[in-house]
Amino acid sequence: MKIICIGRDYVEHAKELNNPLPEVPIFFMKPESALLQKNFPFFYPEFSKDVHYETEIVIRIKKVGKHIQEKFAHTYFDEIGIGIDLTARDLQNNCKQKGLPWEIAKAFDGSAPLGKFVNKKKFADINNLNFSLKINGEERQAGNTKNMIFSFDHIISYVSQFVTLKMGDLIFTGTPEGVSPIKIGDTFEAFIEGEKMLDLNIK
Ligand code: MG
Repeated sequence: MKIICIGRDYVEHAKELNNPLPEVPIFFMKPESALLQKNFPFFYPEFSKDVHYETEIVIRIKKVGKHIQEKFAHTYFDEIGIGIDLTARDLQNNCKQKGLPWEIAKAFDGSAPLGKFVNKKKFADINNLNFSLKINGEERQAGNTKNMIFSFDHIISYVSQFVTLKMGDLIFTGTPEGVSPIKIGDTFEAFIEGEKMLDLNIK
């Protein structure tokens, strides 16, 4: 199983980090050891002083595919969930400045907290889906998938040109604006269309 993450898929988030808008999807990967499930807490790592949350809709691939045509991409996933792409922003900024890969900033243990999944048929239109994050009971991030630069189907088609997708693979589809540092003691709750999908405590 692999975790594929899309970067800069929401215009306002790209702007808040002073990044140019992508012409094609930008993706990177996290290893399986990044997964944090079943409401396990995240322990703040010693190697960073500036870990940020990025709340993202996650899709789970249900069958193997390569060179998937965009018109068939919707047949490669049934389930939608929500996850947090935890990012060591201080390390990432250093990597960006030096032109180095991002793995130490993105792929560390526990950097992919993941909530429950539901069937996409539960929603009238997955390309118009509200999602949000509350920290300590206060809304801190809110997005809608209609604001994605690249749709779920386009992402699947694009990524599968380079990487074979397999059953169980996860795709984190990018964060809206509002990213900020996490703090020890924070309580996170993430929602899709008002339904709570994820609980996370920072320790
Ligand atoms: Mg992200």
